[in-house]
Amino acid sequence: MLYRDNLKERLKAYFGYNDFRPNQKGIVTACLEGRDVVAVLPTGAGKSICYQLPALLNPGLTVVISPLISLMQDQVVSLAKNGLSAAFLNSSLHQSDMEHLMSHLGEHKMLYVAPERFANADFLQRLGQVPISLFAIDEAHCISQWGHSFRPDYRQLSLLKKIFPKTPVMALTATATKEVETDIVSQLAMKDPYMVRASFDRPNLTFRIYPKEKVEKQVLKFLAKHPNESGIFYGATRNGVEQIHSVLLKNGFKAGKYHAGLSDSERSRAQHEFIYGETPLMAATVAFGMGIHKPDIRFIVHLDMPRSIEQYYQEVGRAGRDGLPSECMMLYSAQEFRIYDLFLKEVADETVRRMTKAKTEKIYSFCQSAACRRKELLRYFGENYEAASCEGCDQCLDDTDLVDIGLAAQKILSCVYRLEEKYGVKHLIDVLRGVKSKAIFDKGHDRLSTFNLMPECSEGELRDTIFALIQKGFLERTEGEYPVVKWTPLSRSVVRGETPVKIRKKIEAKVGVRKKTFNLQYNQHLFQELSQLRKNYAQEMKVPAFVVFGDRTLMEMCHYYPRTRPALLLINGVSAGKLEKYGTEFLKVIDQYCVKHNIGETAQRR
Ligand code: ADP
Ligand code: ZN
Repeated sequence: MLYRDNLKERLKAYFGYNDFRPNQKGIVTACLEGRDVVAVLPTGAGKSICYQLPALLNPGLTVVISPLISLMQDQVVSLAKNGLSAAFLNSSLHQSDMEHLMSHLGEHKMLYVAPERFANADFLQRLGQVPISLFAIDEAHCISQWGHSFRPDYRQLSLLKKIFPKTPVMALTATATKEVETDIVSQLAMKDPYMVRASFDRPNLTFRIYPKEKVEKQVLKFLAKHPNESGIFYGATRNGVEQIHSVLLKNGFKAGKYHAGLSDSERSRAQHEFIYGETPLMAATVAFGMGIHKPDIRFIVHLDMPRSIEQYYQEVGRAGRDGLPSECMMLYSAQEFRIYDLFLKEVADETVRRMTKAKTEKIYSFCQSAACRRKELLRYFGENYEAASCEGCDQCLDDTDLVDIGLAAQKILSCVYRLEEKYGVKHLIDVLRGVKSKAIFDKGHDRLSTFNLMPECSEGELRDTIFALIQKGFLERTEGEYPVVKWTPLSRSVVRGETPVKIRKKIEAKVGVRKKTFNLQYNQHLFQELSQLRKNYAQEMKVPAFVVFGDRTLMEMCHYYPRTRPALLLINGVSAGKLEKYGTEFLKVIDQYCVKHNIGETAQRR
């Protein structure tokens, strides 16, 4: 293969990166060899490079299939900045522009299209007329019904191998269980694909999960610790999003909103302003975020518990793509769990219902768990996190107190025993609280010695305690549509008072985010000056600031103080093209700063 040996030089020349991130080189190489690829890499791993670099090196057109048309434009503009000729095709184009594009396809290296386009026979026929080197499918998990965001449009992509049997296909996703991964391969009819699955650990993210108390207060307290940062607030409902949006505005924050109740134009404006940094905060439902490649989102706040761990991890994954420390906070309550449970009753398909229910239960018990968040999350994705403390989650960072719940545990466990391990959580709670319902009288459960044993507890409290007991292995909840609560081998010793039961009670969160992954010391004042320069360029060219240079690149400049063109080119993120465009001005600011503050040669990178 022509360029195999100098891939690294090409990466630097076109994209400015000094080296490949893990897995990128393997994927690019396999792709250039003409193999199909399935890459399951967490957000921020740098999936785009995996097809953009081959696109540059391959002779034909690379077709990128991506679900969100509004974002294609940003991608295309950003590629153009690196000298890559790309185009996008979506419903926002006029018929004549579309015509023009289709008859000049050969002039481009890349074409971004939405999956629904593949239902169009004319489009397929036109594609057949140009040499195509690669189909790259972004968010490929959408093709699988086993994933959490199946999109019927994606199913058409099964056609690709039939119509273009010789063209390699690359499927990329940040969320895939093993099941989904296998499904992707079979749906796309891939042949002996090169499969990559990276660790799902995101070392620069800190995870914190707290019970919901006074949401407004919790949010404002959080924001006070994160001034001037960009972040997303996710709410489960439109109403919730509207509420938090007005709270933010009322408190003087610049914030946009995004949900299905707004018009297309309102939504795309909000999105644009967020990506361009004009409104640093966004209040949104799950509708927002897929395909958003803003690298400097510093936090994600969930105001409600998401429906599954996959969904949660995908959403928090949008923070810190640039690798800099970022914070994820979730507030949850038993309420969401019950609402999701109610919704489930409307799901007709039994398998889907059972699967969805199991996922919601998993995330609920994850929220309540006292174990390291990172360890639990990774275990969910089939990985083992070895370290005793991750130093990047509430359980490992916050001061917590252990409280003894031995007596409550004994009461609950005895009740499970009296109910002969045949009933679910809700019934167990009702018996303990002495609820006088028909179900209870019919079964004679009002005559049990454990009936009305804990009348002082609210339903939510009891539910929390029962799930904590399940989490700790003192109780077991069976799988299936009607799960029942049972004893485990540990239960007896708790009832006998031989095993203490303690759960964590949170006191006060420590301030700050995970720093250990990025500890480059850099000059903050110079950083401000360079940010201003970057902003000027961005405004002049009507692109988001990160398209000029990422924060990390500026930080390196403020650490190494490059004062010559070759030195500037050594900085990660500076490509030949960017050196040409911005080099002179950036060098000028750095040089003036160094002279003024007497920063000598020694500080510079050799
Ligand atoms: P993903 O799609 O996997 O979430 P992106 O392709 O959006 O990731 O890349 C995430 C960030 O990492 C982007 O800001 C990108 O510019 C940067 N990046 C990608 N590859 C490299 C690399 N080899 N070196 C440094 N930065 C990189
Ligand atoms: Zn931890």
